[in-house]
Amino acid sequence: MTPGTEVSPKEVEAQAVRRRTFAVISHPDAGKSTLTEALLLHAHAITTAGATHGKAGRRGTVSDWMTMEQERGISITSAAIQFEYRDSVINLVDTPGHADFSEDTFRVLSAVDAAVMLVDASKGLEVQTMKLFEVCKQRNLPVITVINKWDRPGSAALDLMDEIRTRTGLIPTPLTWPVGIAGDFRGVIERDSSDFIRFNRTAGGATRADFERTTADEAAEAEGDAWVTAAEESELLAEEGQNHDEDMFLDGVTTPVLFSAAVLNFGVQHILDTLVDFAPPAEARLDAAGGHRPVTSPFSGFVFKVQSGMNSSHRDYVAFVRVCSGQFRRGMVVTHSATGRPFATKYAQQLFGKDREVAEEAWPGDIVGLVNASALRVGDSIHEGAPAVTFPPLPMFAPAHFRAVRPADTSKHKQFRRGIDQLDHEGVIQVMRSDLRGDQAPVLGAVGPMQFEVVEERMSHDFGAAIRSDVLPYQLARRTDKESALILGHDRQVEVLRRSDGTLLALFSTPWRLRNTVRDHPELLLEDLAGGG
Ligand code: GDP
Repeated sequence: MTPGTEVSPKEVEAQAVRRRTFAVISHPDAGKSTLTEALLLHAHAITTAGATHGKAGRRGTVSDWMTMEQERGISITSAAIQFEYRDSVINLVDTPGHADFSEDTFRVLSAVDAAVMLVDASKGLEVQTMKLFEVCKQRNLPVITVINKWDRPGSAALDLMDEIRTRTGLIPTPLTWPVGIAGDFRGVIERDSSDFIRFNRTAGGATRADFERTTADEAAEAEGDAWVTAAEESELLAEEGQNHDEDMFLDGVTTPVLFSAAVLNFGVQHILDTLVDFAPPAEARLDAAGGHRPVTSPFSGFVFKVQSGMNSSHRDYVAFVRVCSGQFRRGMVVTHSATGRPFATKYAQQLFGKDREVAEEAWPGDIVGLVNASALRVGDSIHEGAPAVTFPPLPMFAPAHFRAVRPADTSKHKQFRRGIDQLDHEGVIQVMRSDLRGDQAPVLGAVGPMQFEVVEERMSHDFGAAIRSDVLPYQLARRTDKESALILGHDRQVEVLRRSDGTLLALFSTPWRLRNTVRDHPELLLEDLAGGG
């Protein structure tokens, strides 16, 4: 450690306690971009709404990096946005919204300490939301629920609470309760104070929403029946025990619920306050050895995402690291746990969308982007000093789409090899090979077919090796072992491939074919992979 840079454990602890690191999970169109922008607006991180949007026809979002993403109006890449609110530092880790990029999204969830589940009031819990929720549940992430678009007609609030309870198993404990049915959003009851928070529309929702606080009596007078109904419903929830309980929330038994109209900036301040007041700070992390590494330990972190080609002028490679313990200082030399090699962090950058800010220091809970960190792979740990620390490996998900690929121009086989290896490192796609197909003819596996388009684009633009690909007729993959692979090798309808992480995968064309194989050979190892169908 350089003299003069030492920090006390107290300082690290104090910084960790201020951190709130979370992601928004939602189905496309629920309002995630709109909410992100509204949160930034409230925290004064941006001054006008419209600065972060990435949908076609709007201004570029802070998290839009790839042109493809802009053309399609979907968010493929992830960015971490940091801003201060009250005395806290909030890290919002962006998740790609499109169903095809769920693998990436799942990994992002390993880097956060809480999730905001954003629900469209008229649609309820949609497919993608449920998939992501399942990952949060596996990871024991506390979940805050936000019912959005309350300014539009939608389901009854109590029905939505029932839906949350039956479908997620979490007990909803609303912190606010809407006054006025969906489509007639007047404001909310703040349930712990019983005050009425009245929302006042501002032109176009381009500035922070005005709201005023009045007492229950004043609200009863002004809002009449809408108030009476809301107060009765809130009372009913209290009788059912559906009030916030911090321990039950952190244990994943309950989910605090808030109501919002992100596009009008309604209810947004309560979301920020809930994060600061109730979401967990950065805390000791489970390491691969099964111990908990306190935040006050020397610096450590793990790579949850890597990305290249974010900056079109220099095609760079950025490894996103979640800081788990200690103080990160730009320029410090850390150890790459996988190889034991030193890694200099001279070019560390914290990212605020396109406007990269050079990070001088970071603390537990923060996300740091390390530039030109091509030695680092998704899931790798880095640390300062001894002993070495490794964090648990990130899950790889079950691929459901398979293509055999080869270079379009055979003289480009070197570039081809380099590109495929690179995309494999980045976790863009899973790469599998077999002796039968040969080393030069890998099979790519994807969770969603759009991942192949990213591969095609990157292979020709970044690596100068356009590819040709053949769709393979498989739909399912199961983990198998050497002995089982020998037997499966006799079945012409099944193909066994070795993924680059060493896992043997047996590929099946249909669920029916898989069932038959299991029936005929119950002795074979055919295990489900995470997120598999
Ligand atoms: P994302 O796909 O989840 O990022 O969704 P967007 O933030 O792009 O929102 C999808 C659409 O819903 C856009 O047209 C938004 O203007 C609209 N929207 C978002 N929040 C609200 C809301 O609270 N009320 C209404 N009426 N529309 C909203």
